[in-house]
Amino acid sequence: MAGESEIKETYQNFMKILEDLTNNAHELQEQMLEEILRRNAGTEYLSRFFPSGQADKQNFKTNVPIVTYEDIKPYIDRIANGETSSILFADPISQFLRSSGTSGGQQKLIPITTESFERGCYHSFLADVVMKKCFSVSDEGRSLSLYFCKPDMETPSGLVASSYVTFYSKSNIFKTSLAKFCISPIETILCLDIKQSMFCQLLTGLLQRDKVVLFGSTFASLLARTIKFLEDYWRELCCNIRTGYLSDWIIDPGCKNAMSLILTMPNPELADLIQQICEDKSWEGVIKKLWPKIKYISSICTGSMSQYIPLLEFYGGGIPLVSPSYASSEACFGINLKPLSNPFDVSYTFLPNIAYFEFLPVNKDGGGKAQVTRTIDKPVDLANVKLGQYYEVVVTTLAGLYRYRVGDVLRVTGFYNKSPQFQFVERQNVVLSIDADKTTEEDLWKAITNAKLILEPFGVMLTAYNSYSDISSTPGRYVLFWELKMKDSNDLPKLDVKIMEQCCCIVEESFDFTYKSLRKGGAISGLELRVVKRGSFDELMDFYISKGASISQYKPPCCLKSEEAIKILNSGTVGKFFSPKTMS
Ligand code: AMP
Repeated sequence: MAGESEIKETYQNFMKILEDLTNNAHELQEQMLEEILRRNAGTEYLSRFFPSGQADKQNFKTNVPIVTYEDIKPYIDRIANGETSSILFADPISQFLRSSGTSGGQQKLIPITTESFERGCYHSFLADVVMKKCFSVSDEGRSLSLYFCKPDMETPSGLVASSYVTFYSKSNIFKTSLAKFCISPIETILCLDIKQSMFCQLLTGLLQRDKVVLFGSTFASLLARTIKFLEDYWRELCCNIRTGYLSDWIIDPGCKNAMSLILTMPNPELADLIQQICEDKSWEGVIKKLWPKIKYISSICTGSMSQYIPLLEFYGGGIPLVSPSYASSEACFGINLKPLSNPFDVSYTFLPNIAYFEFLPVNKDGGGKAQVTRTIDKPVDLANVKLGQYYEVVVTTLAGLYRYRVGDVLRVTGFYNKSPQFQFVERQNVVLSIDADKTTEEDLWKAITNAKLILEPFGVMLTAYNSYSDISSTPGRYVLFWELKMKDSNDLPKLDVKIMEQCCCIVEESFDFTYKSLRKGGAISGLELRVVKRGSFDELMDFYISKGASISQYKPPCCLKSEEAIKILNSGTVGKFFSPKTMS
């Protein structure tokens, strides 16, 4: 077992690598682009843009267009249907990853190669080292990190298409590294039935509670869901622990086998202890009580995931909440070098050896509020980003993405040596809009954060939200869905009409000038707030999972576009509140 000194050594080695990477960020980015062009300039896709045959940076910048997924989809489809992947990139394709950015969005197929995958894994390894060092985690500690797999799909040409977490969980890299740190047996992670997998992973975590030093998942939405599962199943979990028998609905052979080695005998003392903790009316600090040695919670809590921060802080009872990294199926971008920073204030340091990055300046008028306009013709290099400026990230990879818009808006918050650090701001194009108004994901988050403050003195918590632009009547209006709970119980709070109407007003007051003037002029109707019953957002998650989203990578859409999704939340609505007809 590795002790303190081994971890220190790993950390010191890592710091040397990090210093090297970040001090030479600009040169490494140039080399990265040269390498990508050297390998791929002859592909059918790229060669069109280098008629003179000179595939250098200058020609790349002038000739190669900035694209979205739609632009490269014809090439992806050709590969999926049997043509060679060398039409797009030179290295052999391993398979596709299925990604959606936001889970309400269209599913995309992103090609990967062995090298692009390994570079990405190295990135998460570095993020892991930073966290372990920060929290002095020794090799004896285990992580209760919830991972779930989805069935793979096959393209007509026989290539596999899976979610990133599924692909990663099946890889040798995972088996020989992180899997050893995870308390969940690999069989429970590979089980394709979410309920059986979740039950067994939690049961393992409870049976070995003294080893657990980290509670985590890729995205915070999954942790919120896991705690809800625990609320629903703790009695049955205790019963398994008390009797030493696994529930008979666990029929997955891998889970059954793995659990037979862990759940070996009755343990009534442990069952009593867990029962006592879970019987408490308030679940404040429940994570710390169930797993007393936990040092941190690791889960991405930035962007649309920030809505789960208050809930996870409440259940965590003071355990630090860490967003380790910023990554997507397309590429890995940055890691969090300050795990102890406020979860609302996390910045990611970009690593220059993963892909070639460019940044499209994004104008956010009015001091960061609303009106997003892009000057898409002039992207800048990593070396030229400016402090405080907003950018949309554009990526060029070894696996067939050239000047590809990822769709995320970031803000430069500082530099680590010569590498920029970014805060994740929002997904591009996620907007509420009725008229000329444009209310972005970040605007909405800020407005709701202001409004929910008036619920706090009543012991009411907002556990999830989203929205849509309702244009079914004229003039249209913004509709918000809120799921609320009492702090000290799971009961639905009594909803005071006056207070809820005040919430509507505060949200509207927090929006930008354009919204307010259109609203005052009567072009937008008063905002509507629909409070939904507990579990409605889980139903929404189940709906998107049934449509192909991965639970491990679930990102709740902030702004609903799907009629079916709106219907689900409408059917859970228990109270409707409106802003006054006219806005003062
Ligand atoms: P997917 O490839 O489907 O898992 O989605 C990747 C997307 O998840 C990114 O483009 C971001 O929009 C979002 N995402 C990933 N990491 C973060 C992060 N640290 N903070 C906020 N959003 C993130």
